[in-house]
This record gives sequence, structure tokens and C-alpha cells, in this order.
Amino acid sequence: MAAYGIDFNDEVKSFRCPHCGEESMTVWGWVFKDNAAHAAYFANLMTGHQEISARLTISIGGWGEEGNLAKRKWVFIEARPIAGSYEMTLGFVLDGGQSRVTARSRFARR
Ligand SMILES: [Zn+2]
Repeated sequence: MAAYGIDFNDEVKSFRCPHCGEESMTVWGWVFKDNAAHAAYFANLMTGHQEISARLTISIGGWGEEGNLAKRKWVFIEARPIAGSYEMTLGFVLDGGQSRVTARSRFARR
């Protein structure tokens, strides 16, 4: 049975949004499988944008010893406030970026 471990990282760093260049905040780290890098997680708070949002991305496979980009899969969740409510987007990217599936839901604020 494989042994998994998470590299919890409490170091918050700023980064430039790859789309618009605005500064945002991120925390990221590794998930290990049998002591080899297996997945990476990124928790981003998109500050500096007109539409602020929180994004969690997990990128699985294709890291470390099995470093093959075609094997990599992404799962992401984005939450953003909208007038009187909030909206969440859930997405999957498969086949090294060839396939993409997204679903969006709106929730009433209670
Ligand atoms: Zn941006």
C-alpha cells in the first residue's frame, strides 16, 4: 500500500497573476507518495483584482520520478462573491491539458 504525506506550508508568498499581472497571494506545497513528489497544491487568494476570488488547485501526477506532463491532471475550485451571493466553479483538466470540464454553481447567502 502506498504511503502518502502532505508538506504543509504556512509561508504566504505573493505572485503575479499570469493573466493580468496583478499581485495575488499564494500558499503551495507537495503531496508525496512513497516519499516521491506526487501532487502539488496551490491555494491562491486573488487580491488586486476587481473580482476577488479564492482558488484551490491540486495538480496530480507527472511530478518527480514520474515527471511526464501528459500524465498530469488538475482539479480546481474557485469561489468568488457576487451580488448578494457567491459563485463556485469546479473544474478538471485531463490528458495533459487536452480535455477540460467545468461546472459552475451559484449559492444564496444565508
Ligand atoms: Zn489576473
